[in-house]
Amino acid sequence: MKIGKAEVTRIEEYHGLGFPPQAFLPDWSDAAVEKHLQWMVPDHYSPNDGRLVGSIHSWLIRLPNLTVLVDTCSGNHKNRPDSPFFSMMNSRYMENLAAAGVDPEDIDIVFCTHLHIDHVGWNTRLVDGRWVPTFKNAKYIASRSEFELLVGEEQRLADNQHMIIDTIQPIIDSDQWLLVDTPHHICDELYIEESPGHTLGHCHLTLTSGGGKAVFTGDIVHHPIQVHFPTWNSGACAAPDLAVPTRLKMLEGLSETGDWLMPVHFARPFCCRVGRPINEGFECVME
Ligand SMILES: [Zn+2]
Repeated sequence: MKIGKAEVTRIEEYHGLGFPPQAFLPDWSDAAVEKHLQWMVPDHYSPNDGRLVGSIHSWLIRLPNLTVLVDTCSGNHKNRPDSPFFSMMNSRYMENLAAAGVDPEDIDIVFCTHLHIDHVGWNTRLVDGRWVPTFKNAKYIASRSEFELLVGEEQRLADNQHMIIDTIQPIIDSDQWLLVDTPHHICDELYIEESPGHTLGHCHLTLTSGGGKAVFTGDIVHHPIQVHFPTWNSGACAAPDLAVPTRLKMLEGLSETGDWLMPVHFARPFCCRVGRPINEGFECVME
């Protein structure tokens, strides 16, 4: 996808069956989604399997003088005792990055919308038994409040204890973290703003170039059905009371401008535009 001077490419870690809908979206009901089955099945929901269909991917943004990677999926060979799906993955993510024509050394900025295991994993990789930064020339940007939360109270989760050791600490040791207060401009075309709810320090990134605009939204939305039902939180949203107004504000803004919504977990076609308001939500325009 071209947005002005920027070229935007999806780098896949996983695309396929995800969580059971009621487990992941507690407000899901078969009656509510019935009229949406015609667009959801089979690309976004598999009733036969009783599972949502989703994706885990990064967005690569290539500007003339800057190469940015937004969120880095789950990573390979990482032990996640609480989350079997994300544990000991062995994906072709690095091959997919190479197929996009990018060497790890080419990445200037890694931006993590938030510090969950499926958004920071490829920050590091295992080399000769040691976890080392995957992108040795990059600055890794995260929000300061998100970072402080993780190294504070969120350490009670076993997954996070592992993540700090294998994914966060190596970037501290190599002095590559750049913790920012929001709003923060990376360059003329890219800026970061806070969007609390899924996590308290969650942020999103807006790309503006040549009259085009795209918003990289991390986990403000996980599945396109949430465009139709913006009050549906995922079970993984840490602050549900904040997640709903954040999602509504984001979708309302995109509905007015017609700019691109670029989430991390939508299945094919992986992104959408937000159309006119309908009932309690918005039209989800997938081209
Ligand atoms: Zn996620």
